[in-house]
Amino acid sequence: MQTQNGCRPRTHVMRNHRIEPPTLDFIAKIPDTKKMPELSKEEFQKIYSLWDNVSPIDGDCGLLCSAACCRETGDYPQEICNPEFKSQSQEEDGQVELGMYLLPGEEQMLSTQTPWLTWTTDNPAEYGFPESWTEPVYYAKCSGPANCRRNLRPIQCRTFPLQPHLDQDNRLHLIYYSDALPYKCPLVSNLTKLNQDYLLATFTAWKKLLKDERIFDLVKEDSDYRDYIGTPYTIAYPYQTSRTPDSDC
Ligand code: SF4
Ligand code: SF4
Repeated sequence: MQTQNGCRPRTHVMRNHRIEPPTLDFIAKIPDTKKMPELSKEEFQKIYSLWDNVSPIDGDCGLLCSAACCRETGDYPQEICNPEFKSQSQEEDGQVELGMYLLPGEEQMLSTQTPWLTWTTDNPAEYGFPESWTEPVYYAKCSGPANCRRNLRPIQCRTFPLQPHLDQDNRLHLIYYSDALPYKCPLVSNLTKLNQDYLLATFTAWKKLLKDERIFDLVKEDSDYRDYIGTPYTIAYPYQTSRTPDSDC
């Protein structure tokens, strides 16, 4: 799919990405005073629109990697395959199941099952999502870039190759995607300098998304878990530097 500005930011997150619920005793307690509203459809529409005219790099980054993050199946060419990746689904039946979880409330943007994107539902408690998430959580699968309705692609697709990260003081950063994936994204592997307007749009979008308590909880838990297990990561915005969880920069 060639998009309006020639780029195809997107991601596939493994269904089992969150299958191992983190041991929660390390997670900083979110202050009880926090009562943040759920985002309306209009707010999601405004957030989606932030990405209307921006892309991670100039040109189609899918050409760098055979559109790794948009592939419907796990048959990656050798050069982009991550051989170290082992998922539970691979162990069970040899197949990699690809798809992405929608954020709470995001289903308002995608109210109809369409051929290009279908979803199933899961119990968030069984997949390690925060306690604030109520059933169901929506697991979406698309039918690949040829059919993608880019203006409706989920937040996960818009954010990749970045992730939101909250530090110990709950300051938001965008980091290069640091969790395990079955493929290698060249923008992540090379820590490619990304377009400033894309960084700003993505940062602004996540600042707005974090107003929803459930989304805040997700990002906070993932960030704390990342720090807890010592995942190294590189901040892409608001400033670009490498840091390990115990560095004090
Ligand atoms: S894997 Fe990375 S380089 Fe490839 S299409 Fe996705 S974002 Fe672009
Ligand atoms: S919905 Fe579109 S952008 Fe997202 S993974 Fe599928 S093809 Fe890629």
